[in-house]
Amino acid sequence: MVHAYGPHIFHTNDDEVWEYVNQFMSFKPYVNRVKATTKGKVFSLPINLLTINQFFGSTMSPNEAREFIEERADTSIKEPQNFEEQALKFIGPELYEAFFLGYTRKQWGKEPTEIPASILKRLPVRFNYDDNYFAHRHQGMPEHGYTSMVENILNHPNIEVKLNTKLDPSDVEDYDHVFWSGPLDAYFKHKFGRLQYRTLDFERIEKSGDAQGCAVMNYTDEEVPWTRITEHKHFSPWEAHDKTVLFREYSRSCEPDDIPYYPIHRTDGDTLLEQYQEAAAAEEGVTFIGRLGTYRYMDMDVTIRAALDTLAEWRGAHAS
Ligand code: UDP
Repeated sequence: MVHAYGPHIFHTNDDEVWEYVNQFMSFKPYVNRVKATTKGKVFSLPINLLTINQFFGSTMSPNEAREFIEERADTSIKEPQNFEEQALKFIGPELYEAFFLGYTRKQWGKEPTEIPASILKRLPVRFNYDDNYFAHRHQGMPEHGYTSMVENILNHPNIEVKLNTKLDPSDVEDYDHVFWSGPLDAYFKHKFGRLQYRTLDFERIEKSGDAQGCAVMNYTDEEVPWTRITEHKHFSPWEAHDKTVLFREYSRSCEPDDIPYYPIHRTDGDTLLEQYQEAAAAEEGVTFIGRLGTYRYMDMDVTIRAALDTLAEWRGAHAS
């Protein structure tokens, strides 16, 4: 199983969302354990006691490590205003520079001072040896992949799928209601200008056997042009293959013909986004959903939760 649009690991604390996706596909247990290469050494992510002890060449206990990191952390930062301040407040400069500064510049094409603290809050820091990348109750891989899961969602007598069919805002009145999950600015034909997205380039590598020994290896140094290498056979260990497929992942600014992957949030606010949000709120007969439709950096489970809530609200308002 190859994840054509980059690796997706399903993880959530939301029982209802977990039940929802499990109706359409059985999930195989999977725990994401990420490694990072920096300055010729390999470390464990997210930052945990193994990372700290290996990085500083120590054998600290959880309490010793907590104190040690607190000494390095910048306590003058009360309320972090951006990604860099969040990192300096919680892990101090050494770990920040090794694991976050270069990777974040490569991933977002911006200085960490220009992106919100919330992006770092996605990742835990642990003072034990737990290296599960996600701190969520449910985690797994759809046994036959996401394409098949989505096919099952769409396999309903009331659903007709029309591919390669453009929707023009003037067509909206032909429908009872439109739920738009494409890019927010594309709906409005970019009339205020283009919102910024990051796109990804994937360089496919084929080898035999086991090429890197794990599913995800991040390359956190700025000098290495890719952000990470993923080896897809490790995402589905129940499959057996002699050969192996890896992808080097490169992040760059999204041009008009590229696939938008990540909305880019800025610390200084985004008046263009506000213009689109106002236009979206005023648009009759259309509801904007999803990562692109709402221009929010949401994981799969959050996206599904938001869609289910939106539908419940919409049904409530159109109950008559
Ligand atoms: N990040 C980093 N170094 C890493 C992993 C993540 O600096 O080794 C930063 C980076 O800015 C990234 C953010 O933390 O965008 C969130 O990471 P996550 O793994 O959630 O990113 P995703 O899987 O959504 O690309």
